[in-house]
Amino acid sequence: MLSSFQPGCAEKNFILRPQDIIRKKRDGGELSRDEIQFFVSGMTSGAIADYQSTALLMAIFLKGMTDAEQAGLTEAMLYSGEILDFSDIPKPKADKHSTGGVGDKTSLLIAPFAAAAGVCVPMISGRGLGHTGGTLDKLESIPGYRVDLSLKEFRAVLDQSGFAMNGQTAEIAPADKKLYALRDATATVEAIPLIVASIISKKGAAGLDAMVIDVKTGSGAFMREQDRARALASALVTTGNSLGVRSQALITDMNQPLGRAVGNSIEILECIELLRGEVAEGARPVLDLSVELAARMVVLAGLEQSVEAARTRIQQAHKSGAALECFRKNVEAQGGDPRVCDDPAGILPLTEKAFKVESPRSGFIIQIQTEEIGHAIAEAGGGRVRMEDQIDPAVGFLNEVKIGDELRGGDQIGSVYCDDPDRGRRAAARIQKAYEIGESPPAELPALIKEVIDK
Ligand code: URA
Repeated sequence: MLSSFQPGCAEKNFILRPQDIIRKKRDGGELSRDEIQFFVSGMTSGAIADYQSTALLMAIFLKGMTDAEQAGLTEAMLYSGEILDFSDIPKPKADKHSTGGVGDKTSLLIAPFAAAAGVCVPMISGRGLGHTGGTLDKLESIPGYRVDLSLKEFRAVLDQSGFAMNGQTAEIAPADKKLYALRDATATVEAIPLIVASIISKKGAAGLDAMVIDVKTGSGAFMREQDRARALASALVTTGNSLGVRSQALITDMNQPLGRAVGNSIEILECIELLRGEVAEGARPVLDLSVELAARMVVLAGLEQSVEAARTRIQQAHKSGAALECFRKNVEAQGGDPRVCDDPAGILPLTEKAFKVESPRSGFIIQIQTEEIGHAIAEAGGGRVRMEDQIDPAVGFLNEVKIGDELRGGDQIGSVYCDDPDRGRRAAARIQKAYEIGESPPAELPALIKEVIDK
């Protein structure tokens, strides 16, 4: 059992010490399964110091991991907590996970879509990581909403609303809880083995039958190049399938914010409007991608044979209002104020203090440094720069344009929302620089869905 490993303990006639394991990885060696388990166990219990954990993370970031190390790390993280068992729920269990993006809020639509379509969705999500937002931070902007449910509470919420959204806890994927926060604060996020172990340990712990993974690529993704995204997608699908979770990945576009809203309250507002059927033009990609991912969950869960039939099922759940009702039930069950579904702008902590982002000249938007938008909003208070930072849920950005749009100098690109004028102005200036304006339109517009990876 992992918990039996102790730092400095004698294991198989030799003494394991964190510094030796760090050195081995630093020098390009292959860690054994025991060494990885020892480290993950010590790090989770606190017996191994954070400075040693972050040194190992950096060594893994720089040297990579073999397939055997990758499997060992995923397994050690998966078994750092409990494996949930919902086998008595007479529905297929499925979930989706994203590798992270800017304005990527699809989980908030997919969970109620899939639940309303008959899937049980036990979702273990993360907080903001690097320049990307996190589902848990967004949900916490709903007054009262809790994402630290005990296992008993998590189960009760699943029964009440068909989906439950929780963070990694002391019981569920505790190693990921620890590592996730350390990676965020030490520039060690964008490493394939760390991302795979992080995602699969959370998903595996939730006792899933199937999962869809949204692997982002482009200027706002951890994997900017499509071939790196493909490598990550294959590693995720292979590792998921090897744990008995039917897995599929979609490689999707993150060359511009997904939808209009970037931030916490503001993203919840966009999602509730979409659930209510109020589809602003700029928000359409969020809806389209959410329908597609939810439909694929329905197929993998075995409820439909074809993606077309599953899309129709999801669209009906949306149009009939069943998905919105699922969301309302979930908000209430997780302690939040369900009136947010009727009057989101009245209930969510938003601010009217806006700082315009204007186009500096005339021309066409040819490229967006999307990561910069994420950093600008995080720095203004919408994310964490240090592990212990508190998020201001009202900070956000509303994007009014997309790649290919023609603008005149002074036209509005969007608005930063922030109560602190210095921070708001700084974010607006940084975001303005993220939009590259050229003389002619780009040769092609980025496709929303780029590839489907089954193995
Ligand atoms: N999402 C996760 O849960 N973990 C990562 O490392 C990246 C995205």
